[in-house]
Amino acid sequence: MGTYSDTRCGKCGYSFSDGYQYGSSSLQNLGLPEIRCPKCGAVNSTGKKLFFQMSGSAKAFYVIIRIINVIVFTPGVAFVLYFAASMAGLTKEDTSLYEVILFLSIAFIITSVYMFFSSRSEIKKTEEAFKTKDPDYFADI
Ligand SMILES: [Zn+2]
Repeated sequence: MGTYSDTRCGKCGYSFSDGYQYGSSSLQNLGLPEIRCPKCGAVNSTGKKLFFQMSGSAKAFYVIIRIINVIVFTPGVAFVLYFAASMAGLTKEDTSLYEVILFLSIAFIITSVYMFFSSRSEIKKTEEAFKTKDPDYFADI
């Protein structure tokens, strides 16, 4: 699921097997605009944009996708927890069962919000490195 799996270095033909990816496949346009080839050192344009380079609607779309992810996945997580509780022999008569599921679902939402903000800081860090042309900018690639 590497973002740059089909991208090859324009100079030496090196295949980029992995790359920066901030989310699902619907966010393929979000990423580093250029990457340095680890083999020959040539800088290749990826056709992608950093978050600050995106238009207002594209930013809004990105945030909405993240919110929808949480809304869609939370009932799924609750169902898995309910199924696991049933397998463990807990029945509907156990009122604590639903309290546990509710608690874990809330914990999942909190974790999702936390991950959203941590990915935001990760994006900001990448953007700062890109703006200042930090030599470490290419280090993780
Ligand atoms: Zn190369």
